[in-house]
Amino acid sequence: MRSYAIAALAVLAAAPPARAAVNVMTATEDLADLTRQVGGDRVKVESIARGYQDPHFVEAKPSFILKLAKADLLVVVGRELEIGWLPPLIQQSRNAKVQVGADGYLDASLTVKILEIPTGQITRAMGDVHPLGNPHYWLDPDNGRRIAKAIADKLARMAPADAPYFASRYADFDRRLGEAEKRWDALMAPYKGLKIVTYHRSWPNFADRFGLDVIGYVEPRPGIPPSPGHTIELIAEMKRQNVKILLVEPYFDLKTPQSIGRETGAKVLVMPPSVGGEKEITDYIQLFDYDLGLLVAAIKETGAK
Ligand SMILES: [Zn+2]
Repeated sequence: MRSYAIAALAVLAAAPPARAAVNVMTATEDLADLTRQVGGDRVKVESIARGYQDPHFVEAKPSFILKLAKADLLVVVGRELEIGWLPPLIQQSRNAKVQVGADGYLDASLTVKILEIPTGQITRAMGDVHPLGNPHYWLDPDNGRRIAKAIADKLARMAPADAPYFASRYADFDRRLGEAEKRWDALMAPYKGLKIVTYHRSWPNFADRFGLDVIGYVEPRPGIPPSPGHTIELIAEMKRQNVKILLVEPYFDLKTPQSIGRETGAKVLVMPPSVGGEKEITDYIQLFDYDLGLLVAAIKETGAK
């Protein structure tokens, strides 16, 4: 018994001193999960937005100011996705580490493939909430891989002693994501070129990656609510092209989508674009498993092609 205790003490004495975990805040749950994937137990992570909220319009709760004040790292989606709610939280946190451009501010959009970058003059004058290209880029798994790599590299610079740990966590995530991609590609292979309509322009990277053809949107422009004139044109186009699936993000009113569904015979499919959008979607890989599962079931149900 006594020698047991001595042995236990010896083990304790030999253990390296516990390092404080890197304190990370992220704008969204997708970024929080990617941070957890590569950061493991060497990070403490919390997201400001919930996955069931419209990421363009999040209520900036003051409680997040205190949390941001203690953060070592803030990871954001960027491309002005958070412009309506994050800047005041950052400023009021008075935390020099996480101010825009500081070392603890990581804009995930800088290392990914961005679609729909406007050419010519950039303006929000018409209310378009995507003035710097499409900010929903995490819906391509290869962009998820690039974000995870950027976070792992950043963590390694912030906590150099843990760099090998972050590198091996990233390698494991990359491997699991690669295996999942094979599964998703096989699932979607029969439906290349499938025509769909979506409510908001949340899915261009997803559509590109999985071979879907988005022929129209319920919103006339990103962030602009549906108008009767635009809806009539959309219905005519959906009938002409025989579109049978209308994707709606969970935070939009279903009234217009349902009337479009009645007119065209298309199925209105509510599909979450983020981790946490449904309670089953607890991580980044599950997000695609869940969404592709929903989509394929709807394709089979409607006979869409
Ligand atoms: Zn958007």
